[in-house]
Amino acid sequence: SAKESGRNNYKFFEQSMNARAVQRQSVEVSLRRALERQEFVLHYQPKINLQSGTIVGVEALIRWQHPERGLLLPAQFVPIAEDCGLILPIGRWVLREACRQVQVWLDSGLRAVPVAVNISAVEFRHKSFLEAVALILKETDLAPRYLELELTESVLMHDADDSVPVLEALKAMGVRLAIDDFGTGYSSLSYLKRFPIDTLKIDQFFVRDIATNADDATIVRTIIGMGKNLKQRVIAEGVETHEQLAFLRAQQCEEGQGFLFSHPLSVENFALLLVTGIDGMRGDG
Ligand code: C2E
Ligand code: MG
Ligand code: MG
Ligand code: MG
Repeated sequence: SAKESGRNNYKFFEQSMNARAVQRQSVEVSLRRALERQEFVLHYQPKINLQSGTIVGVEALIRWQHPERGLLLPAQFVPIAEDCGLILPIGRWVLREACRQVQVWLDSGLRAVPVAVNISAVEFRHKSFLEAVALILKETDLAPRYLELELTESVLMHDADDSVPVLEALKAMGVRLAIDDFGTGYSSLSYLKRFPIDTLKIDQFFVRDIATNADDATIVRTIIGMGKNLKQRVIAEGVETHEQLAFLRAQQCEEGQGFLFSHPLSVENFALLLVTGIDGMRGDG
C-alpha cells in the first residue's frame, strides 16, 4: 500500500541519515588523528603571467594523505572540518606550512613567489584570525607581501560590513588579498569598491566556455575590464585549453591558473618547475 511504501521510504531515509551521521563522526575522529599524525600535505599550483609565461605566484591546496583511503581532495573533508570546528587548527597548519615553505625557497635562493592560502568562512569570522596571521608571519619570518589570502566572494559578501575592517587590518599588515571564485557570489559593486582587494580570481565556471559561449565571454570580458578600472589584478582560474588562453590574452587578462599550465604539484615538483619554467609558455609560445 501507499502507506506502507511511505513508511519504508521513511525507514530507508532514517537509515541512510544514520549511516551518514556515523560516517561523518568517524571522519571527524580520523581528522583529529590526522592533525596529530601530520597526514595533511600541501600541493602547489602555479599562477602564470599570460604574456610572459613566467610563474608569478602559487596557490597552496590541501590534501589528506589518508593511511587507508589514499590521497583525499578538500571536497572530501574540508566541509566536515568546517562543521566540527577542526578547520581552525587545520587552517592554522596550512597557513604556517605555506609561509614556512616560501621562506625555505627564499632562503635556498630560489626565485620565490607569493603563496596564496584559501581561508574558509569559519576562519575568517573567528575573533583570533588576525592575531593568528600576524603570529604565523612572525614565527616563519616571512615578509607579509609573500602571503596572499584567498577569500571567496560569498564569504566576504555575507556580513559585508563586518568584512571591511578585517580586510583593512590584513591589508595594513601587508598581506595580499584575493577574491576567489569571483562572479558566483553576487557582489554588490559598492562593496567591491570598499574592500581593499588586490586580486580578482575569475571562477572556472565562467572560464570553461569562454571560447564557445558568448554570454560567458561577455562576463569574463566585463570582469577583466572592471578589475582594470578598480586597479585590481585579474586571474582566470581553470584554464585548460589553448582556445581559452588565446581568448584571455586577447582580452588582456594578466594572469591564469589551470591544468593547461600545470596541475597542483608536490612541493618537490613545484620547486623544479620554479627552476625550469612552464613548457611551451616561454617566448611568444
Ligand atoms: P579553489 O580555491 O577555487 O581552488 C581551485 C580548485 O580547482 C582546486 O581544486 C584546483 O586543483 C582545481 N583546478 C585548478 N586548475 C584547474 C583546471 O584547469 N580545471 C579544473 N577542472 N580544476 C582546476 P582542489 O585542490 O580540489 O580544491 C578545491 C577547493 O577546496 C578550493 O577551491 C578551495 O575552496 C578549497 N581548499 C583547498 N585547499 C584549502 C585549504 O587549505 N583550506 C581551505 N579552507 N580550503 C581549501
Ligand atoms: Mg583558491
Ligand atoms: Mg577558486
Ligand atoms: Mg572554488
